[in-house]
Order: sequence, then C-alpha cells, then structure tokens
Amino acid sequence: MSLRKLAGAAAVAGIAALAFQGSALAQDKTFITIGTGGPTGVYFVAGNSICRMLALVEGVGRSGDQFRQHGIRCAAPSSAGSTYNIGQVSEGEFQFGVVQSDWQFHSVNGSKPDRVTSNPDLRAVFSLHPEPYQIVVGADSGINSWSDLLGKRFNIGNPGSGQRGTSEELLEAFGNSNADFSAVTELTSSEQAGALCDGNIDAFGYTVGFPNGGVAQATDGCDARIINLTEDEVAALVNDNPFYSFATIPAGTYSSLTDDVTTFGVRATFITSADVSDDVVYELTRAVFENLDTFRGLHPAFSVLTKEGMIVDGLSAPLHAGAERYYREVGLIN
Ligand code: GLU
Repeated sequence: MSLRKLAGAAAVAGIAALAFQGSALAQDKTFITIGTGGPTGVYFVAGNSICRMLALVEGVGRSGDQFRQHGIRCAAPSSAGSTYNIGQVSEGEFQFGVVQSDWQFHSVNGSKPDRVTSNPDLRAVFSLHPEPYQIVVGADSGINSWSDLLGKRFNIGNPGSGQRGTSEELLEAFGNSNADFSAVTELTSSEQAGALCDGNIDAFGYTVGFPNGGVAQATDGCDARIINLTEDEVAALVNDNPFYSFATIPAGTYSSLTDDVTTFGVRATFITSADVSDDVVYELTRAVFENLDTFRGLHPAFSVLTKEGMIVDGLSAPLHAGAERYYREVGLIN
C-alpha cells in the first residue's frame, strides 16, 4: 500500500472509531447546564463547584466502589443571574440554577409575575450561602443611609439579576421611584465596581455572598463602603416576608469595613424543574452532600453550610423527588 493510501485508510478508520465512540457517548451521557451569575460573584463558583463534585464522584478512568458512573456532564456558564436562571430553567434551556430565595418564592407562588417567571413546577434541591443585599457606596460619596442615596447615581443591576428585582422591591418599600435618583443604571455585577471606582456611579446594590471578588474590587480597590440598612421600611420587609432576614457583614470582611454592617438579605438556593429526571437530581444531590467538606472549602462563603440547614433554609418550592430520595435515604428527612 502506498504511503498515501495508508494514511487515507488510517484516517477512515480513525473517523469510524470516532463515530462509534461518539454514538456510544451519546447513549451514556446526560448533559446538564447550571445557570449561575456574573463571573466575579459567588454563584459562578457555586455552579462550577457543583459540577466539580459530580466529576469527583464519577472518577473517570478510576475504579472502586466509591465511584458512580452517572454519566452526567455538567457546565456552569456565567449568566445574568437569578431571575434569568429561573426563566431558563422554566423553558428547559437550563436544568438547574442558583437563585435567590426571594425569587424562588415568587416564581413558585406566582406572586411577582412582572419580575420573575411564574413556575409552579419549580423544585428546590438545596440551599447555599446567605446573601446580604449590599449598597456599596463611593469612599467620598457622603452616602451613609438610604435617604442620602436619593438624588445620586445608583446602579440597580442588570435585568435578569436577583439584585435588580430586590433593588426594585426596596425602592418600592421606601416609596421611591427611579425619578428620585439623578441616574439609575443597569450595569452588570462585573461592571459596577469599576464604574464606582472610576466615579461614574455613586453606589450600587448587590445581593451576594461574602467575601467576593466583585465587592472586594470596590472596597479593597478604592475604599468603597457598605452602608447599614436598618430603617423601619427594611424592618417591615423582613417582618412581612419569610425569605428576608437581617444579616451582618462582619468588620474586617473587606479592608474598608471597620465596623459590622447590618442589612437585610436572602439565601442563595439551588433549584431545578419537576421535568428534570429524578436520577440526575439524586446523583447531583448525593455528589454534593457526600463531599460537603470538600465543597465547603471551595469558597469562603460556603464555610457556614450544614446539611441540616441546606435542606430547609430559604426553600419555598417543594423538594425535587430526586433530592428527597437522597435526603430520606440518609435520614435527613423522614
Ligand atoms: N444574587 C445575584 C443574583 O441573583 C448573584 C450573586 C452572585 O453571582 O454570587 O443575580
């Protein structure tokens, strides 16, 4: 056989092998996408850490009883945030999403159809870290409270983000509207810190776990501060809504944080749809819970997580049947 024919035959064999492997793969694998948030937030780390736990337990190329050949292939791209993730999960574009507990509640109850897709088939898997709503203000902005913010340039967050909706709820609670600010911007979580440090905005509202890179870029980067939110209007929000609570960001979390900050906040939660298969949700839940120590080590915001807390805190949608199967099996629920 000539060299050229040999190369041709090898290429054909190669293609045939690839095609065979491709179809074998397609039969065994399940592809899932987890909706997260901006690349400098905690959701992005959360989604990718969950994917990592799935890969860890599968142990591709290794053998042993501890490995589970679940065949789940997981991706967790950055996204616009909570309400976008709920919309995508509702349409079957994403199988899972990290979302704020307030938007989980409003989606499954259909109580804010103008702010989040109503979806009675939304299902809870577990909850994650606390997320205080933080108003981060410029070092020399002179802003120390909500009333100081009026007349200033305020970033309420990009459409699709959780903080966008929560900012709007807060505005409403104070009886304010966009007209009460000199400018209202819609920058993403990865744009807002730079805009604050460059003096293009005076403040931004961000619902996010701590510490995180996005807030650090503003606090450690240009001495931005986080203000207290303890007004009666905030207390009323906390009293009237099961998904809000008061939260403290301890002094020292960022270099400019010399005192504790008190504000209100939500929980990050992990959701799916009743349409996603029980086996996939079971394997994912199991992978995270059986390796919770490893998972906790992947971001400082996760250090507070406990198994008992994760199956109740901030969850308002029914548990997905696959998650419930795992929790029952290990005795976390009866
Ligand atoms: N809470 C934000 C949202 O719902 C995302 C925070 C993060 O990326 O960690 O959009």
